[in-house]
Amino acid sequence: MRVYNFSAGPGMLPLEVLKRVQSGLTDYNGTGMSVMEMSHRSKPYEKINDEAEALLRELMNIPSGYDILFVQGGATNQFSAVPLNIGTVNKKADYVITGNFAKNAYKEGAIHLDARVAASSEDENFTYIPELNPAMFRRDADFVHICYNNTIFGTCYRNVPDTNGIPLVADMSSMILSRDVDVSKFALIYAGAQKNIGPAGVTVVIIKHELTERADPKCPVMLRYDNQVKNKSLYNTPPCFSTYVVCEVLRYLKDLGGIKAIQAVNERKAKKLYDYIDGSTFYVNPVKKQFRSIMNVPFVSPSKELDDKFVAEASAAGLVSLKGHRLVGGMRASIYNAMPEEGVDALIDFMDKFKKANA
Ligand SMILES: *Cc1c(COP(=O)(O)O)cnc(C)c1O
Repeated sequence: MRVYNFSAGPGMLPLEVLKRVQSGLTDYNGTGMSVMEMSHRSKPYEKINDEAEALLRELMNIPSGYDILFVQGGATNQFSAVPLNIGTVNKKADYVITGNFAKNAYKEGAIHLDARVAASSEDENFTYIPELNPAMFRRDADFVHICYNNTIFGTCYRNVPDTNGIPLVADMSSMILSRDVDVSKFALIYAGAQKNIGPAGVTVVIIKHELTERADPKCPVMLRYDNQVKNKSLYNTPPCFSTYVVCEVLRYLKDLGGIKAIQAVNERKAKKLYDYIDGSTFYVNPVKKQFRSIMNVPFVSPSKELDDKFVAEASAAGLVSLKGHRLVGGMRASIYNAMPEEGVDALIDFMDKFKKANA
């Protein structure tokens, strides 16, 4: 039996995608082999690699001056790749700290360049996104780094910050393809696939072409964007199977009607859950309303004991991985693209029964 999996990552994949992958598992498209067993230099794999790129470009409306890469090492590897590739002109970068991943990106940046905290919401345990304006950034910074959706704390930017021309880099791991984003406002976007668009093992990088041409000569070859661009992400053996599953997810999203269609579903799912929490007088979400994420929804019950009971009973009822991150406690429902609306309905129904039994 399939459960409703509210894990923050790896997250759920659409059942239709899993079934398609299953049906081609031992014989992909008449090749007589699985994508797992296929040479990354073979025609069928090249086709998958090209299709994944083309579909991502189409779905996100990525302008032609941007390169798309499928690389390894997770979003965390990009914390190093970004400063080593683009933080090389004045060796200065400004970071906005809105959670743990944003802070880890900053710490990694500080190893390679003069990293500065331009703003932080740590004073209120990352329950909001700081107000930003161009004057907060150093004019000679090589880039500004933000984490667009904060997976642990359940916050999201409402609009793209204005950096007055300084290249803007965004970690979109937990919201990529969940809603419309104007890619042209960013210099670089990266996202580990395992939250919203596929299995772990592959990370998407979308980068303005001109920024691929200024890597630090000491940058390891696997991290070099110019090297990956030149080789169409096939410099060495890529995570073929993960990229293939991403490709199937992208096909699925396109068939569904694209980003606008999935965005409408996502907004409806999130609204239902937040409306229920706000109206409950039992559950509380600590995030300032205008910064609430539509992907990750943290909430608490009246006590730590009830939180533990909630997580255990929900799990027994087929609603799994609802335990909050250790930094926040309580519960967290990650309701990525693949979480069906019925899953959110089932969660709300369970929350209401639990409340009545324990209030
Ligand atoms: C999960 C996550 C990461 C870490 O991703 P890995 O692929 O495990 O390195 C970084 N940033 C954000 C926003 C995340 O949600």
